[in-house]
Amino acid sequence: MSSQLTDKELAELLPSELLPHHTPIPTQIVSSDEFYPDPQNERQREVEARLLAMADDLGGKQGLDRRRFFQTAAGMAASFVAMNEVYGPLFDVSKAEAATPAMAQERANALKDQFIMDMHTHFLRDDTRIMTFVNMRTAVGKAGWNKQLADKEQTIEDLKFENYKKEIFLDSDTKIALISSAPSDIEQDWFLTNEQMAAAREKVNKEAGSRRLFSHVIFTPGQPGWLEKLQAGLELKPESCKGYTIGDNTHKEISRYPWRMDDEKVAYKGYELMVKAGIKNVCIHKGLFAPGVEKQFPNLRGFADVADVGQAAKDWPNLNFIIYHSAYRHVGGDPAFALAEFNRTGRIAWTSDLADIPQQYGVSNVYGDVGQLFATTLVAEPNVCAALMGTLMKGLGADHVCWGTDSLWTGSPQW
Ligand SMILES: [Zn+2]
Repeated sequence: MSSQLTDKELAELLPSELLPHHTPIPTQIVSSDEFYPDPQNERQREVEARLLAMADDLGGKQGLDRRRFFQTAAGMAASFVAMNEVYGPLFDVSKAEAATPAMAQERANALKDQFIMDMHTHFLRDDTRIMTFVNMRTAVGKAGWNKQLADKEQTIEDLKFENYKKEIFLDSDTKIALISSAPSDIEQDWFLTNEQMAAAREKVNKEAGSRRLFSHVIFTPGQPGWLEKLQAGLELKPESCKGYTIGDNTHKEISRYPWRMDDEKVAYKGYELMVKAGIKNVCIHKGLFAPGVEKQFPNLRGFADVADVGQAAKDWPNLNFIIYHSAYRHVGGDPAFALAEFNRTGRIAWTSDLADIPQQYGVSNVYGDVGQLFATTLVAEPNVCAALMGTLMKGLGADHVCWGTDSLWTGSPQW
């Protein structure tokens, strides 16, 4: 993800993000540095007001001040009650849970042993030059989304291996994670090389004494020497492979090798090597291409949607194609856009197109990942989140919707 904001915009943005109330869930739109967040809107202000009133009332009865109340399971339940009151009945929660700490705690306990695999995670190599994500973590902390991130100044070290290990495996409920990367036409600006991902996997699994970390190998169709590089990568025995059809996502302005998933002359040569090596899962970055991004990079637009997914899935029935970000176009854009579109047409770009593929092509090997889109829409416009989840479950099937967070970019755990 490249920075779409100027330094000046970022400088103006960060101080305005300071949130006075440490609520369990954020009550305004969370920014990444890819887009300029809207100021808190009317409905978000209403959620916040209702939540504060509940904290004073229910928390008061429990002898807790606001801050303490918000740290309890009852405070978390109150947050969802407040959102239901404003947005409609989206969350399975009762007012009794907000009023009765033991009841809220009971639910929290019942969920705490769930098996959680986060199939979309990142950290950056030691010699990285990419500073974008430091700003992102700072903004997310200041917005109140992930409070731990606001407690200390974020540095590039927070985006490296040691902190990754801590946040993913110690601070969150994640049991198994998949380490991913992103390629660049500039060798040094890959988040991690294929070898570095494999080395991280070995380190974590050795320390844990079990398979806690899986790893990707990145493939870059069209780049000079890409098939040899893929072959070398496959020898590292990755659990799955990943590619970016728009080519260089980090430096979109120089991206020279975008590609199509259904290109028989190019991409299919890569799938052939993967099948031979026993690979089953192919992850593809799609979406995250709001109209503002299209304006800057119109040449990449044709590679960002899912028009090339169906034919590839049909031609390669022994592979699964897992579409990252479920091709949701408006991550990094305004969710109000998506809501208006959904209310008008019943569809959301380009997630609805993805969800149509199984029926259109008669395939069952297409999956959707919820990295970024779940967390950002749940905060900013929960009706969009509900629409996205419903669309995906209906079109792909509930067992074809995968949990991924895109951490560490916005910290882990994600609320
Ligand atoms: Zn990612």
